[in-house]
Amino acid sequence: MSYGKLYIVATPIGNLGDITIRALETLKSVDIIAAEDTRHSLKLLNHFDIKKPLTSYFEHNKQYKGNVVISKLKEGKDVALISDAGTPVISDPGAELVKDCIENNIEVLTVPGACAAISAVTLCGFLNKRFSFIGFLPVKKNEKIKELEKFKNYETTLVFYEAPHKLLKTLEAICEVFGVRNISVARELTKKYEQVIRTTTEEAVKYFEENEPVGEFVICVEGCEEKEAENELNALSLEEHIKYYIKSGLSKKDAVKKCAEDRGVPKREIYNASIELEL
Ligand code: SAM
Repeated sequence: MSYGKLYIVATPIGNLGDITIRALETLKSVDIIAAEDTRHSLKLLNHFDIKKPLTSYFEHNKQYKGNVVISKLKEGKDVALISDAGTPVISDPGAELVKDCIENNIEVLTVPGACAAISAVTLCGFLNKRFSFIGFLPVKKNEKIKELEKFKNYETTLVFYEAPHKLLKTLEAICEVFGVRNISVARELTKKYEQVIRTTTEEAVKYFEENEPVGEFVICVEGCEEKEAENELNALSLEEHIKYYIKSGLSKKDAVKKCAEDRGVPKREIYNASIELEL
């Protein structure tokens, strides 16, 4: 008997209209659907009138459940893997199952569709054609900072996932490590309250201090090279840099702001230096 196939099926990240025709056909044709949260996925499957045996496959049962799924595949059953939203494996369970299938000569096929990271990158407005997907950062501040340090000199756009109650702390850490850079914070993509805030790291912190984060978020941060390419003025001394803007007609406050943006450091730092320089 030949082995069954594992299908990695993407589901919508909000708007149910984003399910693909092939996803529906696949979910209707397989023998078993392995879902991250069966109760959550049942709502999606009921909406599309799909009735199939469901089994759970999530972070804390993946070792045991992976073996069960592999044995079903070896019996010739086709299995679809879905997650709560978007593309399985991308910050969702599934990587071990794919690896185990490959090692067992079981065919793995993709049924692509929605992915929050890709959607956010298409909306961020940065010109850099390359991006690095980082996903979730550690929760503890020192670990978060340590992790961010690794990406500080990346020239690509950096893409992070974050939960609403952790968003502000993550934005603060991004601002602390990367300084002032352009950032895009995409919220509730494809849903009723979809919103993209395009601003600087510093302003994003202020915005979410004043507006409680609600919903699901993807953060895109401009890569370091893009920023530096714009900043030929950074070759000047700090004093010359601030004076350049003052001479070109800006107030001291605006000169400090521009200088901080150019150098990718917090405004406060430039302001304090300007006091010391008696500007
Ligand atoms: N595998 C999914 C994908 O392909 O997008 C991601 C799963 S991960 C567990 C969930 C995270 O994705 C959320 O915390 C949020 O950062 C992001 N996300 C999912 N849906 C979103 C949406 N509609 N708008 C913004 N971000 C979303």
